[in-house]
Amino acid sequence: MSANPPDLRPDLARASVPDARRAGQPTIGMVSLGCPKALVDSERILTRLRAEGYAISPDYGGADAVIVNTCGFLDSAKAESLDAIGEALAENGRVIVTGCLGAEPDYITGAHPKVLAVTGPQQYEQVLDAVHGAVPPDPDPFVDLLPPQGVKLTPRHYSYLKISEGCNHACKFCIIPDMRGKLASRPARAVLREAEKLVENGVKELLVISQDTSAYGTDWKGRETKFPILDLARDLGSLGAWVRLHYVYPYPHVRDLVPLMAEGLVLPYLDVPFQHAHPATLKRMARPAAGERTLEEIAAWRRICPDIALRSTFIVGFPGETEAEFQVLLDWLDEAQLDRVGCFQYEDVEGARSNALEGHVADEVKEERWHRFMEKAQAISEAKLAAKVGKRLQVIVDEVDDEAATCRTMADAPEIDGNLFIDEGFGDLSSGDIVTVEVDEAGEYDLWGRLKDRS
Ligand code: SF4
Repeated sequence: MSANPPDLRPDLARASVPDARRAGQPTIGMVSLGCPKALVDSERILTRLRAEGYAISPDYGGADAVIVNTCGFLDSAKAESLDAIGEALAENGRVIVTGCLGAEPDYITGAHPKVLAVTGPQQYEQVLDAVHGAVPPDPDPFVDLLPPQGVKLTPRHYSYLKISEGCNHACKFCIIPDMRGKLASRPARAVLREAEKLVENGVKELLVISQDTSAYGTDWKGRETKFPILDLARDLGSLGAWVRLHYVYPYPHVRDLVPLMAEGLVLPYLDVPFQHAHPATLKRMARPAAGERTLEEIAAWRRICPDIALRSTFIVGFPGETEAEFQVLLDWLDEAQLDRVGCFQYEDVEGARSNALEGHVADEVKEERWHRFMEKAQAISEAKLAAKVGKRLQVIVDEVDDEAATCRTMADAPEIDGNLFIDEGFGDLSSGDIVTVEVDEAGEYDLWGRLKDRS
């Protein structure tokens, strides 16, 4: 669990490229801000650059130019993006800006007139053009072979898999549909080919992302099935890797995804952005789901798959939110007993329709509600984790150092959820191993356990 701003942020992701730079090789640095979707864009850009013969520098000093992939979701994220651009300019001097904030070039050049180029989200060709202009390529086909799985910014044993772009909703606090457009789903064959390649190259966990995962494929005319996400999830589940679904908008057909979790094809984990529980607040947000019905849905999901872990995010202090509405949210949370919860205090974002709503909530009230919300969420998390003590769970090993093996259970997504630590007898474990542990201790967000079985 984490506070404002966005809790899905792998700040300053470091590219892991297995080979060293040759003398004179053109070299690019990348600062990747924002959500996992932006991270996937960064990976695509780096993969293309690597294929063209560029080396990737993990620091400013070794780079001939630096790409800053920005986030523009909240005003605080915009400010952080401007800071990151400023740092890259100060440390390196040759900076190309891309990503969500690139949709507002004047905002960037107003603060940083010396940037070499500004391109918007998904403008891969424009980013590459800008790089070619700043640092011409110098390919050497004998040594510049691309790693078969592409360049990954995540550890090799897990990878994000982007299945669509854009969104057909119009939530009032969100400008993503303006920046990224309407839902455009990738062809299932292309997604599966990418997933197969990743698994063949050692990826053990696929993290499925998009703006609206459950809507995948509903933009295809004349499609054979009503909800193509069901087929895609089944096909991905047959590859033998862990498959984790993120950003699942709570449509009724999500109920049909849950049996795949009970069957073990897809991880029993649903990341569903509920945002609020009071019907009037949800209506002002222009979110369709009502609190009562979502409680029924949650109960139905748990009947089908009792081990399902539910993660969600919420906004407190949305314009017009009364104390009574907030209290309904707290009561709802008590009843829903979600496993993992993130919470934002509402912020105006330039261009969002919610800015014009009446009844903006005072900052100190937002802050106070956020604390009350997080206190409750934390107590729920603590109790849920305490109930796992004594259980045997499968975990994936993320990292091993002198102190412990840092792992995750099926209920924990990388970067955003908790960890399980093995601090004895972990010496021969390696990242990517999937092993069985017995949980012997629980904290607010993390678990500790003993190794029981190497499978
Ligand atoms: S569903 Fe998500 S991406 Fe789409 S408008 Fe709402 S918050 Fe934005």
